[in-house]
Amino acid sequence: MNKIIIVGGGAGGLELATKLGHKLGRKNKAHIVLVDKNRTHLWKPLLHEVAAGSLDDGIDAISYRAHAKNHGFVFKLGELADIERGNKKVKIAPFCDDNGTVVLPETELQYDILVMAIGSVSNDFNTKGVREHCIFLDSPDQAHKFHSLMLNKFLQLATHETKNVSIAIVGAGATGVELSAELYNSLDQISSYGFDDLKPKDLKVTLVEAGPKILPALLDKISTSVHRELMKLGVDVLTNTMVTEANETGLVTKSGDVIKADLIVWAAGIKAPNFLNNIAGLETSRINQLIVKQTLQTTRDNNIYALGDCASCSQEGGGFVPPRAQAAHQMSSLVAKNILATLNSKPLKDYKYIDYGSFISLSGYSTVGNLMGSLTKGSMKIQGRIARFVYVSLYRMHQVALHGYIRTVLIAIIERVNRIIRPRLKLH
Ligand SMILES: Cc1cc2nc3c(=O)[nH]c(=O)nc-3n(C[C@H](O)[C@H](O)[C@H](O)COP(=O)(O)OP(=O)(O)OC[C@H]3O[C@@H](n4cnc5c(N)ncnc54)[C@H](O)[C@@H]3O)c2cc1C
Repeated sequence: MNKIIIVGGGAGGLELATKLGHKLGRKNKAHIVLVDKNRTHLWKPLLHEVAAGSLDDGIDAISYRAHAKNHGFVFKLGELADIERGNKKVKIAPFCDDNGTVVLPETELQYDILVMAIGSVSNDFNTKGVREHCIFLDSPDQAHKFHSLMLNKFLQLATHETKNVSIAIVGAGATGVELSAELYNSLDQISSYGFDDLKPKDLKVTLVEAGPKILPALLDKISTSVHRELMKLGVDVLTNTMVTEANETGLVTKSGDVIKADLIVWAAGIKAPNFLNNIAGLETSRINQLIVKQTLQTTRDNNIYALGDCASCSQEGGGFVPPRAQAAHQMSSLVAKNILATLNSKPLKDYKYIDYGSFISLSGYSTVGNLMGSLTKGSMKIQGRIARFVYVSLYRMHQVALHGYIRTVLIAIIERVNRIIRPRLKLH
């Protein structure tokens, strides 16, 4: 029986494992194994909400093991360490507990087809002091770390241990922009839980962007409209500002200015993990992504696919597929089709990125974005409730791919009920 290993159970990888589990695993036509370094899955675009406390991932995260049991694949907990292409094996690093004690030794898994879907990490561009003094939002653990530091700062503010809280966010892409707005929402919410003294003016959020505008990948009209909304909330938006250093007191810019900050979040760009660089002789990009053909097979090995943020896939008309959840979703569908085609000796299909638009949610305050498509004759700016609906639809599409329509509707109902019976902010 063919062995298919998928490494990384994120936005793309978990959807793929679920699809292949249904089509092949359940029918004993192939053995599907999903490897992830975490025990649970949380859709990554929700991480800034975990950081700000507006989402409790203890409730929303999916257990890989339970999902695997219900969907015809096997889950293996562990972190990919290396690939041996010669004898078609992946090496999984020893699994250690929080104290560094080895729980499981290094293991090897044999594959016929390997799919790399390990996502990306923040790119600090080797900026001085960033690793030591900034928090990244690459994983739920990092989001929890920020959340607990933020709660401590708010506690100090409420008990007059400090006069204000300053948070700097470097990078005004979707993550930085959405987090800025979430922080004001958190302060607003927390003040209703016994911290009456907390006022928006006590929170100073500075959003720092090296380029000339925020949300550089989006249309000017979206970027201008979001910029205006952020300023209304109280965010200090600094464009054309290059950060050259982070230290214990804040940030230093290229022009020598100092931005004081109690907490700094670095969200200024992404790269694939460093260990991917030239792994097993595969072709990789400047930011360590595995270079793939239009079939999403890696350029030097047809048995190895890559999808999502860790793949570098060129687009018709120039440029590369952007590292986004909708790209990971679309790529996982194509890889599933191409794996089925390979097993049935049929020709493979090419991937074509379809941009359905981009949406930015400024917490409960506003949602804005542009819808792309033939109906809108190119791009159309939308705002408010419709924009919020489309924004949430992207997550619902992911849930449908994992759970099907009926369960997704049930989950949506439970989310609504939770919003009534649980605190609106995670307070611990
Ligand atoms: C805060 C935030 C907000 C975002 N907002 C949006 C948005 O609004 N819209 C949008 O389109 N995109 C958004 N993105 C980008 C989007 O999250 C990514 O493009 C998408 O998650 C990529 O999917 P993926 O499957 O490639 O990787 P991921 O979803 O990152 O999944 C990677 C998986 O691989 C696992 N893994 C990593 N390394 C290893 C290893 N060595 N061994 C085993 N497992 C490993 C990880 O645990 C993870 O489960 C956002 C990202 C962030 C951080």
